[in-house]
Amino acid sequence: MKYPNLDYKYDGPIFDSHAHVIELEALKLFVEIGKKYGTEKSILIVHSDDITAYERMYPGRFVYAKYMSGWRLFTEGPEPSLKEVARLREEGYGLVKMHFAPFWTDRLEKEKVPSVDSPVFDPLFDVLAEHNLPVLIHIADPDTYFENRYANSKQYGTKDGHIEEFENRLKRSGDVVFQQAHFGAQAEPHRLENLARMFHQYPNLHVDTSSARWMARELGKAPEKARKVIINHSDRILYGTDCVARSMDIDYYEGRHHTERMIWETDVRNVPLPFVDQDTVGRGGTYINGLDLPLNVLEKMYWKNADTIYDLEWN
Ligand SMILES: [Zn+2]
Repeated sequence: MKYPNLDYKYDGPIFDSHAHVIELEALKLFVEIGKKYGTEKSILIVHSDDITAYERMYPGRFVYAKYMSGWRLFTEGPEPSLKEVARLREEGYGLVKMHFAPFWTDRLEKEKVPSVDSPVFDPLFDVLAEHNLPVLIHIADPDTYFENRYANSKQYGTKDGHIEEFENRLKRSGDVVFQQAHFGAQAEPHRLENLARMFHQYPNLHVDTSSARWMARELGKAPEKARKVIINHSDRILYGTDCVARSMDIDYYEGRHHTERMIWETDVRNVPLPFVDQDTVGRGGTYINGLDLPLNVLEKMYWKNADTIYDLEWN
């Protein structure tokens, strides 16, 4: 794959607010390709117990997110996590990642999976607030998933229901800073008004732009509307790729970075997504329509908003 046009509108440093590491060997490629597309620093969601190897390789480059296993939270309750959270700052973490996706009810009995607004979790969110640890949280999933794999609402609940539960949590834990993944799961054009309402109502709500294909597929259906929502709430939106340092495929990383930069910075129309979107295979494919955001909005999304929350040091 070749991207001849790397002449983007924005030429400052970029902070990637949503990325994962699985394989240490892949981290070098992840960093290299990120840099080619302007990414100087990232949040790194860590799925192991140790960050020392990453920090040794790239001192100061990452803000580490502790992945709080849903499995453990749901089977053991939040009690063991309370002590863990109290140590995180010392251990070098800057935030935690939580995943409340409908599929947990496949792996555990439905009764054992409390919703995110359950009082069971109150002490956990209290400790997070006390230690000033923001939460990167995944709620629900794309509408396309609810049409297919989650079509059985008795098992999985409804998407509106999951978003409401999260709204209750925003209310109950007003002192916790939330970064909701994947545009708050509300990139679909018919959900943008609700997201805008939530921004107005909850000053502790932020979203990231992770999942290049989800953003391209949905925001690209109504670029003018999406543009307005982003400009009106530009203090709450953080750039993120959801790249996972596991792949050794250059195209994997390039496709995500380039797609997002095209979405935010250009006014292109109907450019095919440079990789496969499983959700539109056989249904017409996914196309990029750029939002052509103003430079001051890009500066906030790419760096300033993350700096406000995570206190990045740029030197
Ligand atoms: Zn992710």
